[in-house]
Amino acid sequence: MNIKRRDFLKVVAGSSLLLASGDVAFARTAKKLPPSAVGILYDATVCIGCKACQNACKQYNEMPAEHTAPEQIWDDPVDLSGKTLNIIKAYKNGTGATKDAEINGYSFVKRHCMHCIDPSCVSACPVTALDKKSDNGVVTYNKNACIGCRYCQIACPYNIPRFEWDDPFPQIRKCQLCDHRYKEGKFSACCEFCPTGASIFGKVIDLLAEAKKRLTLKPGDYYHYPVAHVTSRETSYRPVSIYLNHVYGEKEGGGTQYLLLSGVPFAKLGLPVLSEDSAANRSETLQHTLYYGLIAPITFLGGLMYAVYRNTRKEHEDKGDKL
Ligand code: SF4
Ligand code: SF4
Ligand code: SF4
Repeated sequence: MNIKRRDFLKVVAGSSLLLASGDVAFARTAKKLPPSAVGILYDATVCIGCKACQNACKQYNEMPAEHTAPEQIWDDPVDLSGKTLNIIKAYKNGTGATKDAEINGYSFVKRHCMHCIDPSCVSACPVTALDKKSDNGVVTYNKNACIGCRYCQIACPYNIPRFEWDDPFPQIRKCQLCDHRYKEGKFSACCEFCPTGASIFGKVIDLLAEAKKRLTLKPGDYYHYPVAHVTSRETSYRPVSIYLNHVYGEKEGGGTQYLLLSGVPFAKLGLPVLSEDSAANRSETLQHTLYYGLIAPITFLGGLMYAVYRNTRKEHEDKGDKL
């Protein structure tokens, strides 16, 4: 086999021109908040750790109780699981004497799906069992479409989706923002039954405005915290604690529809420190770029095969072989 240098160089030059002719990075546009997006604002400074939200979540999503000891009869989950979609956890430091203080203090935190604006779980799912609704932005799960690959678990930066390991027909489990209750004119059970207004439901734009307003309040002043819904007239009138000047979820990972306020750094409450662009956007841009970038090597290989074919054909012709 004799590949001519000139043919080889032609193929290399052609491939290089093709690569140079387009943008090498094939960027995909980051997803935006749907216009009627709904969500939850959780204010850890107002939370008393009563777990009414956790119990309401179980009741209105028909989830079973979890027991940490066999003789125990009450629900006592230690983390999110195939049986628990929402959990109240606690942070404590030193003496744990002061609420909402990082040092010698304590805080609660409510963990469930963040309903990301650009969700990695949706991006990673190969069969669209996870989907983001175009109207209200809720990230839903369809058990009938799921093939159990659990890519969503690996993709989620918040470690939210859980698998029913002990079920013969397992599903992925995660909070779906009580989407099934909206058609009855109801909303997230965890907010409806929160007695203090620590968890409130509403449109994300209203929740963000409420969160930013709270950051302007003076510690020690009294404020009417709306209860259950951001537009509610029922309020809990209480003194303002010291807030960190940060609405978690406003920007993290491209933004989320679950927003949090706290006096203790969010990393101490177990929430990840994320950049402002979504992981889904980064990974899909990389994937598209790789596929796009493969055009050049494939063309190069095609050209190489053509050069081999032409040269071997000429050799056979010279020998008088029939082709
Ligand atoms: S928090 Fe995780 S499971 Fe929930 S929408 Fe975001 S990526 Fe998906
Ligand atoms: S929105 Fe519904 S499913 Fe999600 S944590 Fe609250 S009660 Fe549970
Ligand atoms: S119901 Fe409200 S106050 Fe009680 S633990 Fe849940 S968020 Fe906190």
